Amino acid sequence: MNFIPLASPDIRESDIALVNEVLRSGMLVQGKYVGALEKEFSNIIKCKESIAVSNGTATLHLALKVLGIKPGDEVIVPAFSYVATANVVEIIGATPVFVDIDLATFNIDVSKIEAAITPATKAILPVHEFGLACDIESVMVIAKKYGIHVIEDAACALGAMQNGKPVGSYGVMGSFSLHPRKSITSGEGGIISVNDITIAKKLKQLRNHGIEMTDDGMVFEEAGFNYRMTDFQAALAYGQIQRLTEIFDKKRRLAEVYYNVIKNSEVILPFLPEDRNHTWQTFHILIGEGLHQLDVINKLRKVGIGANYGAQCIPDVKYYAEKYNYNSAVLYPNAYTAYTKGIALPCYEKLTKEQIKYISININSLC
Ligand SMILES: *Cc1c(COP(=O)(O)O)cnc(C)c1O
Repeated sequence: MNFIPLASPDIRESDIALVNEVLRSGMLVQGKYVGALEKEFSNIIKCKESIAVSNGTATLHLALKVLGIKPGDEVIVPAFSYVATANVVEIIGATPVFVDIDLATFNIDVSKIEAAITPATKAILPVHEFGLACDIESVMVIAKKYGIHVIEDAACALGAMQNGKPVGSYGVMGSFSLHPRKSITSGEGGIISVNDITIAKKLKQLRNHGIEMTDDGMVFEEAGFNYRMTDFQAALAYGQIQRLTEIFDKKRRLAEVYYNVIKNSEVILPFLPEDRNHTWQTFHILIGEGLHQLDVINKLRKVGIGANYGAQCIPDVKYYAEKYNYNSAVLYPNAYTAYTKGIALPCYEKLTKEQIKYISININSLC
């Protein structure tokens, strides 16, 4: 069997045709596909506006910026996520305050949020990790009680919902990534979902050098960035978003094969809360005491399977360890366990059931 990479985007001839159309048109930036992609996102997320930017870290940066979060402010982030979630808080000059996760869902443990809130807390930045919504309804209740903002890091979770309401529609803003590791891709790319039109207007200015177009021409309202998305990137993602249901159906069928075939007492399969759907950006398992993470990754790679660890225990990576010197294993035991005992397995639409069976059988023979 050929090597099975951990991730591989499904780019079809029809997607390439759309990209070519843009390239031939000569309208490479902010042409018709940026607007069309934004419209599709707003329909799926059920939000007033969607704003396409250059990547899923720029989205978070703009979200913090537009809320005026600054040095001295605190932002609550889960201790287990991709580092970008905390990096943006550092970049703004504010302080990330880590909260441990729930090991069943790999999402922020909402019962631990209130203890982390101080008078300096300005926002909660919950992550919908691996394509599963966190308990965002409970996060919203807490945020309301304390009068703090919620910015949803939904980088991995386009299409995920809690009780039928899409992630990205709960908080003041939602942040999505279109990196090739996510469900649909534009190469690099990101989308911010927002319901407040005043914030949407500011975000559009900040994306484009602070410019507001008026009847008298350009007015430079802000010291903005250039975080625009190119139109051929938008065209690529626009092609894929048309078949989003098909993508999720396929991934769900592949995940079912994992559930049916993996039988190893040293392996815990992902938990599925009843009020949420999983969009399977990553199929993330936990290994027990008897298995060693690096050993498992290497064994799987030897048989042609591109497994890896899933995400970081952020306080434990070099920059954060040196700056804050937290004892992660004690303060964030679940994030630490997920970081050191988690394995991400391939789960994307180009794979076949036979390939998933092959991976599962190799998981079963781990000991
Ligand atoms: C991928 C990801 C990001 C960053 O997105 P980019 O588009 O790669 O910048 C941020 N947060 C989470 C949780 C992610 O998975």
